[in-house]
Amino acid sequence: MTQVFNFSAGPAVLPKEVLRQAAADMLDWHGSGMSVMEMSHRGPEFISIYKQAEADLRELLAVPANYKILFMQGGGLGQNAIVPLNLLGRVREPATVDFVHTGSWSGKSIKEAARYAKVNVAASSQLDGFTRVPPQGEWKLTDGAAYLHVCTNETIDGVEYDFVPEPPDGVPLVADMSSHILSRRIDVSKYGVIFAGAQKNIGPAGLTLVIVREDLLEHALPICPSAFHWKTVAEHESMFNTPPTYAIYIAGLVFAHLKAQGGVAAMEQRNIEKARLLYAALDFDDFYQNRVAPENRSRMNVPFYLRDESLNERFLAGAKARGLLQLKGHKSVGGMRASIYNAMPIEGVQALVDYLNEFAGR
Ligand SMILES: *Cc1c(COP(=O)(O)O)cnc(C)c1O
Repeated sequence: MTQVFNFSAGPAVLPKEVLRQAAADMLDWHGSGMSVMEMSHRGPEFISIYKQAEADLRELLAVPANYKILFMQGGGLGQNAIVPLNLLGRVREPATVDFVHTGSWSGKSIKEAARYAKVNVAASSQLDGFTRVPPQGEWKLTDGAAYLHVCTNETIDGVEYDFVPEPPDGVPLVADMSSHILSRRIDVSKYGVIFAGAQKNIGPAGLTLVIVREDLLEHALPICPSAFHWKTVAEHESMFNTPPTYAIYIAGLVFAHLKAQGGVAAMEQRNIEKARLLYAALDFDDFYQNRVAPENRSRMNVPFYLRDESLNERFLAGAKARGLLQLKGHKSVGGMRASIYNAMPIEGVQALVDYLNEFAGR
């Protein structure tokens, strides 16, 4: 097999060991004679896979006992509607939701929530071209808001929070962590709800993780669809309807792999090192450019521009020839982007750095 390094923002690179294990299990999982894809989600084999995945994730993120972990579908964008449908019942109408607008994904969340609630954009870095997280001192938060929604890592803009927001008393903090969950330690107890599509840093597309504090299961609007009603999903241990079984199985392999690698703290150290290497090459001179404020530079998604954009196609062709794949930036912002999730080995980042230096003629 050709050695490549895949810098896709998502669906993204998975650990080779996990893919090998999945290949070995493909036709016959643990002597069951079945592929995981063929198993009933209610049978003992799959239930054991599910329970182990849930327990391993709980351990990796130190999820407190009063939080439920839900394995859902609908993606990160699905949660943009599912969150308001589950939380707007907390407050009397007209409910207000506070948002901090730090890039493309929080922008999409704002648009979706505005279909259900009055939206207050408490702060925005739009005028700065989404190159920073506005410090909390600048936020205009609403007392009695239904919740405060932030995107703690903006996948397209490459902007990551360097602090945990503090909402007004009693207002739950909702965080879209799709592209950096499990990349760094977090204190789950500071959040009311954490959600993440799996296809960035967890596993295959089709699975969406939701971690929700138990008291927040009680506030759904009557129109909330049953399959997206957190309380119903929680009461059925994510099996109210058929969950994405194969995606859960792969996610479970990834969780076990992370544990074997030393857990989230060890991943965080490696991610800091990988990001340091890459940003240092980009900052070396002005051949390349990353425009994000240093304290908010994402460790996972690193957008950058060539000073001379007429070289873009040549840059990408040369990268591809070296097995450095999917470096083209998101179409909405142009330029390049290297996503260096947990499963990207440091050798991949080093190969990219070598190419950056070579292409710049250093
Ligand atoms: C990818 C992504 C999403 C969207 O996920 P889908 O599964 O495509 O709905 C939402 N938020 C963030 C931060 C993302 O990176």
